[in-house]
Amino acid sequence: MQDFHIGKLVVVGVGLIGGSVAAALKRERLVDHVIGVGRSRANMQQALSAGVIDEMAQDPATAARDADLVLVAVPVRQTAGVLQQLPQCVADGVIVTDAGSTKRDFVQIAQEIFGSAAKNVVPGHPIAGAERSGVAAATADLFTGKRVVLTPLPDTDAKAVERVASMWRACGANVMQMSPEHHDAVFSAVSHLPHVLSYALVEMIASRDNSEELFSFAAGGFRDFTRIAGSSPEMWRDICAANADQVLRDIDAFQQALSLMAGHIRAGEMDKVEAVFAAAAKARNAWAKGFK
Ligand code: NAD
Repeated sequence: MQDFHIGKLVVVGVGLIGGSVAAALKRERLVDHVIGVGRSRANMQQALSAGVIDEMAQDPATAARDADLVLVAVPVRQTAGVLQQLPQCVADGVIVTDAGSTKRDFVQIAQEIFGSAAKNVVPGHPIAGAERSGVAAATADLFTGKRVVLTPLPDTDAKAVERVASMWRACGANVMQMSPEHHDAVFSAVSHLPHVLSYALVEMIASRDNSEELFSFAAGGFRDFTRIAGSSPEMWRDICAANADQVLRDIDAFQQALSLMAGHIRAGEMDKVEAVFAAAAKARNAWAKGFK
């Protein structure tokens, strides 16, 4: 990792994730020059003032010319529009990676747009984040001790994979690999479904006539369960669209679990309810012990 250094890094989407990568690499003095490409001028100005980026640019294609690495960190349904502007630089051998929470869609888009040059494109997903958005939420510590999943294909260039892995290690993360299909199934269950549930619960309460009263009595348990409902609606809309089949499968499974629970309660089978709670509490507490 000591040998790792980036001359010119282009970050498309300088929000929580893109801004945090730039901030971490800058703190470690492992990048010379960061160009940010963004949608919101106010956010980009803030990134510049905070020293997260050194330069603002409008056009990804021009910014990425001669770059050492391009990180795409936009909501996943924005990715195609960004990649469509990068065929020349990818053909020239510039390494492109992303931070999107879904991976099958990214791989498919990259293959469609770049063909065989997609070997220079390394799909990635940092398993770190927050419910806050924008560069104001970015922090150099975001990835410390966290995992990053890369989902390269068999023909992805091994040196490109290693370079992207080194970038994430330089940000303090531990890097692992899995297939895009496996990734999307795993994160549907442990991330996408929980976000859908959290949003649905809050909206169910908020749309009741006495919502003000209900919220006034909501306490720590409600806060913990619903923290993620404060996340970016655009980001999570895009994730649900990109991973729709897996998310729908997990919503179905969850509905079955709820129906089972409702059936036990309706039938007064409270020993069965307690057994479900006991198994869940045991699993949750064991998981929490190992969670960093
Ligand atoms: P964010 O909203 O904080 O930042 C995204 C930035 O991209 C914003 O500044 C936005 O203005 C900009 N943007 C949007 N469309 C653009 C476009 N077409 N061109 C240029 N800039 C554009 O979001 P984030 O949390 O940093 O998420 C970025 C990516 O990382 C998403 O794909 C998300 O799925 C993924 N991710 C998020 C988390 C998390 O917890 N927030 C965790 C892991 C991965």
